[in-house]
Amino acid sequence: MVSNQKIILPLLEKKKVTLSIKREDLIHPQISGNKYRKLKYNLLKARELNYDTLLTFGGAYSNHIAATAYAGKLNNIKTIGVIRGEELWDSWSKNPTLSEAAKRGMKFKFVTREDYRKKGTKEFISNLKREIGNFYMIPEGGTNDLAVKGCEEILSLKDAEYDIICCPVGTGGTIAGIINSAATNQKVIGFPALKGDFLKKDICKFVQNGNWELCTNYHFGGYARVNKSLVSFINEMKQNVGIPLDPVYTGKMMYGILDLIAKDFFKPKTKILAIHTGGLQGIAGMNLYLKSKNLPIIDI
Ligand SMILES: *Cc1c(COP(=O)(O)O)cnc(C)c1O
Repeated sequence: MVSNQKIILPLLEKKKVTLSIKREDLIHPQISGNKYRKLKYNLLKARELNYDTLLTFGGAYSNHIAATAYAGKLNNIKTIGVIRGEELWDSWSKNPTLSEAAKRGMKFKFVTREDYRKKGTKEFISNLKREIGNFYMIPEGGTNDLAVKGCEEILSLKDAEYDIICCPVGTGGTIAGIINSAATNQKVIGFPALKGDFLKKDICKFVQNGNWELCTNYHFGGYARVNKSLVSFINEMKQNVGIPLDPVYTGKMMYGILDLIAKDFFKPKTKILAIHTGGLQGIAGMNLYLKSKNLPIIDI
């Protein structure tokens, strides 16, 4: 469906490795990359079970919230986003992700951070059902068995030519699908976008193979944290290589891959494939934040 784009950079020539990127961000401007993959079988299931409403969870800049709103609109199914941050109830229309989601018909329920932490409990869910009626529930970040199944379709048979597959990690659903579908001679390297030792265990719930590892040095201080060197790296990649990256996931992964290549982590002749999981809709929100702090912004 999407093609792999070969990256040309002096560093790659010098180190004699090749790096290509699978442009899953081009699937759709809003339901891009892995969120499209993760929703695909969940939407089919919701339809099969005759639900007329999807409910899911996320923060104010969530790619998953954006994707769910679009997918609901396209599939004629109502969507409800339970959003972390009670204070957003009167300011959400200034938030680019939430205002786009609302345009696609998503309704919001804003909850305090404390309540948000309880979202997995039976009590929280049954209160929601009393208030809203019945719904098909998709977890935060969209990861469940059906999401992993969708992500098993990211790699195609042709991708067996690569030695290394790299992908960003949030909840771990995407990398789980990639691990399950990778060839036995391939190694999968995940780049977590956040700090946390729980990820390895979470991924193990969905995978059988051991051909993978996490590279935890490139979270830039934690989830959605950025610094000047990441922002200028993202701008350079767009200018010089023609690849737009997002600041939360794919920017950190690509920074990490090129840093590892510079440090001779990969043998000469290694063929690397990076998965562009999308997330570009989040740049607008990040830029609002960067502007408010008088920091350099990401070129759009
Ligand atoms: C959500 C997201 C991820 C992380 O996916 P997980 O399946 O939660 O690990 C990676 N990249 C982008 C662009 C995302 O939106």
